Amino acid sequence: MTNDQLWKAALGQLELRVSPGNFLTWFRSTRAKERKRSTLVVETQNPFAYEWLSRKYRSLILEVLKDLDQSITDIKIMATPKNHAAASQRRNLRIVAHKQKVTRPSLTTPTRQVTTGQSSVIALNEKYTFESFVVGASNEIAYAACRAVADKPGAAYNPLFIYGGVGLGKTHLLQAIGTTILARNPNSRILYVASEKFMNDFVRSLREKATQKFKDFYRNADVLIVDDIQILAGKEKTQEELFYTYNSLHQQNKQLIISSDRPPSAIPAFQERLSSRLAAGMIVDVKKPDFETRLAILEEKSKHTSITIHGDALTFIAKNIQSNVRDLEGALNRVIGHAEIRKQEVTVEYAKETLQDILTQSQHKAVDTKQIIQTVSTYYNLTSDEICGKRRNKEIVRPRQIAMYLLRKENNMSYPSIGNYFGGRDHTTAMHACEKIEKLIERDEELSQEINFLRERLYA
Ligand code: ADP
Ligand code: MG
Repeated sequence: MTNDQLWKAALGQLELRVSPGNFLTWFRSTRAKERKRSTLVVETQNPFAYEWLSRKYRSLILEVLKDLDQSITDIKIMATPKNHAAASQRRNLRIVAHKQKVTRPSLTTPTRQVTTGQSSVIALNEKYTFESFVVGASNEIAYAACRAVADKPGAAYNPLFIYGGVGLGKTHLLQAIGTTILARNPNSRILYVASEKFMNDFVRSLREKATQKFKDFYRNADVLIVDDIQILAGKEKTQEELFYTYNSLHQQNKQLIISSDRPPSAIPAFQERLSSRLAAGMIVDVKKPDFETRLAILEEKSKHTSITIHGDALTFIAKNIQSNVRDLEGALNRVIGHAEIRKQEVTVEYAKETLQDILTQSQHKAVDTKQIIQTVSTYYNLTSDEICGKRRNKEIVRPRQIAMYLLRKENNMSYPSIGNYFGGRDHTTAMHACEKIEKLIERDEELSQEINFLRERLYA
């Protein structure tokens, strides 16, 4: 086997072992450079990918290579940067590696609509900065990619696509990019829009026969940020318009940044050409923060208050509020608010007492069977009948297994009842489905994200 053939075969294996988004982002621009005795030298043009491959995928790559060729005992990953843009991305990543120093943002700055220079229209909230964003394992790639884009808009990753569940910091990051670029270059035209506004503007321009004005507005941005794009599912005309807007911006090396609650390929009723365009740049995700990150976020957010908060009170909140950062922040504000009125310190008992109802509510809220089936089928763009029915197409089988898994986990349903519910299937089928999903979740990041998302929906 030549080095090329070996690497191609390895890529084939790797593609099965990592999520499609990760595969595209990290492995697409790699090739086998040479072989030095038992070491395969792998090269990437993307210095950002270099850091990431070395840190996160090294052992997986080696495992796959050893499987294919036992004489390989080591790998070396090298970056051959294409240009300066790439070099600056690398510098950025270092910043992430050394934990950032957090400064105190002001809580009270309202969202503002600003017009500067020749109509640089933005809608940015100054409290959302990179400095006030706490970086942890759950969001470090997204953070680094956003910094890279803020550093070199139009050059680093275009488009940049950020996805993840609600309240995990997407809007915060998007806004931080805008604020940073604007601070550096006050004349740049930065447009931040919710997808809904983009759609409404477009529809109005059609109605008022003013599409040229619409195009002038959106296609002349230096940076266009479109938040929560999943709501454009099924909105064909608006998607088409976004597609053309992207083409136009891209041709002028202008930056597009998009957020969504799920990866491009998982947005139902999304035009193929648009989702493949959106997937062509950089795709990063934000996940739920782990305990340490939750605690760091609470520490960051409690800097603004003058009342005393005991460390174990923060630990208690971090332990108990796991859903997302928005809820975490909400819980903290509630505790602080109460304590401020009563002018008292926040002890762990006080936090417990204040949050009692939230905590019991989230623990005991039950979901019913129908709701689970409904949520899963809507997410995968299927009908409940299809999910529960007999057909065994690939597109149906996986969602069906996921529904079975959720019934078991969230509803504690017995295997025979699950089987029964799904058109009288055997209990072993249900058992097999649950085991299968359980296993897959461990190594398939995208699936585990999808299931988290479905859970969020169920308890929303
Ligand atoms: P999303 O857009 O993903 O739904 P947001 O960006 O609106 O979430 O975040 C919800 C809240 O949580 C915001 O107040 C935001 O500042 C805060 N937040 C989210 N992630 C972080 C983080 N890593 N560090 C600090 N604050 C965060
Ligand atoms: Mg948001």
